[in-house]
Amino acid sequence: MNMKYVIVLGDGMADLPLEELGGMTPLEYAKTPCMDYLAAAGEIGTAHTIPDGMAPGSDTANLSVLGYDPKQYYSGRSPLEALSIGVDMRPTDVSLRCNLVTLTEEEENFEDKKILDHSSGEISTEEAAVLLEAVKQELETDCYKFYVGTSYRHLLIWQQGEVLKLSQPHDVLGQTIGQYLPQDEMLQNMMRKSYEILVNHPINQKRKEQGKNPANSCWFWGAGTRPSLSSFQEKTGLQGAMVSAVDLLKGIAVGASMKNICVEGANGGLHTNYRGKAQAAVDVLTKEQYDFVYVHVEAPDEMGHQGSVEKKVQAIQFLDEQVIAPIKEGLEQAGEEFRMLVMPDHPTPICIRTHTGDDVPYLLYDSSAPQKNMWKYNEREAAKSSHHISKGCEMIDYLIQK
Ligand SMILES: [Zn+2]
Repeated sequence: MNMKYVIVLGDGMADLPLEELGGMTPLEYAKTPCMDYLAAAGEIGTAHTIPDGMAPGSDTANLSVLGYDPKQYYSGRSPLEALSIGVDMRPTDVSLRCNLVTLTEEEENFEDKKILDHSSGEISTEEAAVLLEAVKQELETDCYKFYVGTSYRHLLIWQQGEVLKLSQPHDVLGQTIGQYLPQDEMLQNMMRKSYEILVNHPINQKRKEQGKNPANSCWFWGAGTRPSLSSFQEKTGLQGAMVSAVDLLKGIAVGASMKNICVEGANGGLHTNYRGKAQAAVDVLTKEQYDFVYVHVEAPDEMGHQGSVEKKVQAIQFLDEQVIAPIKEGLEQAGEEFRMLVMPDHPTPICIRTHTGDDVPYLLYDSSAPQKNMWKYNEREAAKSSHHISKGCEMIDYLIQK
């Protein structure tokens, strides 16, 4: 019988001790009987997922956990999102994230405006698509093509473009935009024109009447070239599938020639369809003869960004009860032997509400060789373990015993 392999990735799950939790981390505080059982029957340790000198993003970290060294394979976030929405980039194309943002409207000159919101009040995809179409009508050429993504997150493909350094809109909120505009004349002009096209658009008039932030300008950033990931199957000998609600992860799966499984009601939020994701993972391993599944759950990271201790604890408990436990039970009932790795991609500590590149705790369970240990799965106990994976991209070989 073939061994099955599972990675359950709790995005941003690792954290720091919190006073509110009596000096415990959310992972330590949360009631996680299944994770603790698997940890005690298996191994715990720490892993360094983000190579030193690289930004601690979900992009670099998840590439790493899937076995792709970000130093070699990372070529920007927006190209991975391009893959997920089905844009087939040529080697000479540069893709840029095109946010729909909110700028102040009272200033005469474009460069004097301030950026109020990088997400235009998390505008719906439906409204955003209409606005992007208006921009497209006027600005699209053979050289610059627009694609609709999700909510405020869209895409510009620049043929034979350059990978320019561009300001991230969420880094300059509240500031005057002049000094942060692209140096490139064409891109800057397109941003100026997008404002003229969008500022009085009926959708934005209506949004303002409703007290919502208007999506009155495009903002280009996150430039990168087509990623060339090797096939996951060629690399590992395993047929792999991805279960995630997030475009970035779906893009990585497309790049790695893995099967993407869409689960109804999976939305990246706290109240996502956890059980549906678990069932999809069990099904693809037991009914479709896949060997490997990567189950990505975004909720702990989102709750970290929101700075909510209570909701982060809740997200971790949901993950334990509604994802990890059902996968374990489903595989056992199907009579499968499996090795399961549970870990975050990076910490998203509540106290800073953003990612860090610190080591993350992992647990590795092998159903064919259960042990009896005393430890539980959390940052504190994992740090005491003698197991440390210094190159996160080698974690996958460790899991599959290659
Ligand atoms: Zn992440």
